[in-house]
Amino acid sequence: MKTVSDYFGSMVFDDRVMKATLSAKVYASLKHTIDEGKALDPSVANAVASAMKDWAISKGATHFTHWFQPLTGITAEKHDGFISPSPDGGVIMDFSGKELIKGEPDASSFPSGGLRATFEARGYTAWDPTSYAFIKGKTLCIPTAFCSYGGHALDKKTPLLRSMEALSKQAIRVLKLFGNDTVKRVVSSVGPEQEYFLITKEMYDARPDLRFCGRTLFGAKPPKGQEMDDHYFGAIKPKVAEYMEDLNEELWKLGIMAKTEHNEVAPAQHELAPIYTTTNVATDHNQLTMEIMQKVASKHGLVCLLHEKPFAGVNGSGKHNNWSISTDEGQNLLSPGDTPYENAQFLLFLCAVIKAVDDYQDLLRLSVATAGNDHRLGANEAPPAVISMFLGDELNAVLEAIENDAPYKGAEKTQMKLGVDVLPKFNRDTTDRNRTSPFAFTGNKFEFRMLGSSNSIACANIMLNAAVAESLKVFADRLEKSKNFEADLHDMIKETIKAHKRIIFNGNGYDDAWIKEATEVRGLLNYRTTADCMPHLLDKKNVDMLTGHKVFTLDELKSRCDIMLENYCKTVTIEANTMAEMAKRLIAPAIESFAADLAKNANAKKSLDPSIPCTYETGIIKKLSELTDTIAVKVDELQKEEIALGDAADIIAESVMVRDKVLPKMCELRLACDEAETLTAKSYWPFPTYADILFSVR
Ligand code: ADP
Ligand code: MG
Repeated sequence: MKTVSDYFGSMVFDDRVMKATLSAKVYASLKHTIDEGKALDPSVANAVASAMKDWAISKGATHFTHWFQPLTGITAEKHDGFISPSPDGGVIMDFSGKELIKGEPDASSFPSGGLRATFEARGYTAWDPTSYAFIKGKTLCIPTAFCSYGGHALDKKTPLLRSMEALSKQAIRVLKLFGNDTVKRVVSSVGPEQEYFLITKEMYDARPDLRFCGRTLFGAKPPKGQEMDDHYFGAIKPKVAEYMEDLNEELWKLGIMAKTEHNEVAPAQHELAPIYTTTNVATDHNQLTMEIMQKVASKHGLVCLLHEKPFAGVNGSGKHNNWSISTDEGQNLLSPGDTPYENAQFLLFLCAVIKAVDDYQDLLRLSVATAGNDHRLGANEAPPAVISMFLGDELNAVLEAIENDAPYKGAEKTQMKLGVDVLPKFNRDTTDRNRTSPFAFTGNKFEFRMLGSSNSIACANIMLNAAVAESLKVFADRLEKSKNFEADLHDMIKETIKAHKRIIFNGNGYDDAWIKEATEVRGLLNYRTTADCMPHLLDKKNVDMLTGHKVFTLDELKSRCDIMLENYCKTVTIEANTMAEMAKRLIAPAIESFAADLAKNANAKKSLDPSIPCTYETGIIKKLSELTDTIAVKVDELQKEEIALGDAADIIAESVMVRDKVLPKMCELRLACDEAETLTAKSYWPFPTYADILFSVR
């Protein structure tokens, strides 16, 4: 029998293959680029391309593609054959170093937010040697960054790599102050836990809203939902188990460390978590995972829904971004150390994250903002739209002791000073966990829980890396000038705790009382929608920070803000169109035919005996006819609001209209339709109900 270790990574041009197929010199040069982020020596490109091609052909590949992540949020690829004519009329398989390093996709229809129009017509893709090439189907995929000729990033990968660079640079400055002269690189790592729904293809095909929007736009609450909590970690159904088995195999072949799988809270909801890896690789892997989840589902007669909120009233799907930073020497900088000195360093990095999350709440919030994720964040579901951090009791007590110069219960010496020999030794506490916090410390990493299930993890990690780089820069600037390192370190940590402790909250994040306290007492931000938060990308403090660390240029930020708001408006507009269409052409006619049949029955009864009251029929007919009238009115009003969008002065104004006018109308229309569903005989209803869909996979 074939074991996992036989085929794990078999479709990846990974270190094992490189070592086996490249000359020692070429391998060493490429390794240097990969491990230390150094520029690629162009002379090795031809050798690498040739080895890659031979390897890919031996695995059955016929094409290659530069695989990239445009701002649409999904991945893009354009396949080119390896074939090249030979003089004798045959073909040779060809792939040059030039083709490996650089591609020129005709990319004019990818969103650029005006960047290409302003600067130049075409973009190019550039190989990212830090992420391994892989084979998908019959195509060798080369992970690339996508830029305009002026060097503007047109993708998510480029700023992500830049943010990793910025973080590394500032973290190294801090580590040097602690006497570490050997560290070459600091990397951020991520393990994203991916939630998803599985439903049958039959249900999916029968619902235009699922097909066009990825979520249901109508649907009355089913008699049984998630209230029993009987699905969470429950036994996995055979059909789902077969799917997961197949999915794992496909992911393992691509070197993706899919590790954990279980049922989630909602019926039909599941989760997959890989083992964490370097952020840019984790980002590539997560994009691939989402793609393969959908592909494998279709082989099993299923559909994998990655939308953040496929069903109203049922838990939505998110993606927990487990994030940590470590040195190339393997030291996790978010892990409390064994010695007081290591603990002081840990506390400084911890404070860097606390300061970053507080100073850049808006950037973190907007990095996960989409029309889909708005249905989770800020809509009575975990986590809330207000960002706060959970640290756990022990760390909290340590921070409090430092802030107040008070004794710490766990300290060997009573006075809480951050000097080298007086810092208390504390152990990381893995037992107390908080599931409602948007940003929780979990022992040696932070778990950012606001990402939507369909989000690329690139955006959140760009902001996180950049914001932490900024805190570290502020710290390093001050400490590098210090005459008394220990005293200044202590003061700085203390000041940081004082200034930013408002962001720390250990209670229940779902609680209404918390939202009130957070916004009214602590002054934390509560941006409930994409329209609320996205324009803040261009706030001066954010532009200064992101351009200062060379993560984005101002033009890139402007273009991104536009594109994200456009996505928001387009998504909601498509939903509104789909709703109007379904209401007019499916729902209203279904209600009418049910009512007509009821009327027919009532007339038949009355012709037998005029004294029969026909209370059942007349009662329902009356209610349904009120509802169909309401539906007609609401469809009309919705369409008027949509037309009015054409008058919006700019995309920000349009997004506000979408938020304040279109979305509320959609809710009103839905309300009438859902009520009608509960009154209409099941056999008349024109598409599967929530109960049908949520319990469809058996
Ligand atoms: P949970 O209890 O939240 O489900 P797990 O402990 O199973 O979480 O881990 C969730 C994810 O966190 C996994 O993808 C795991 O690989 C990742 N993870 C573990 N340690 C780290 C780390 N140091 N840095 C980043 N991610 C990590
Ligand atoms: Mg988790």
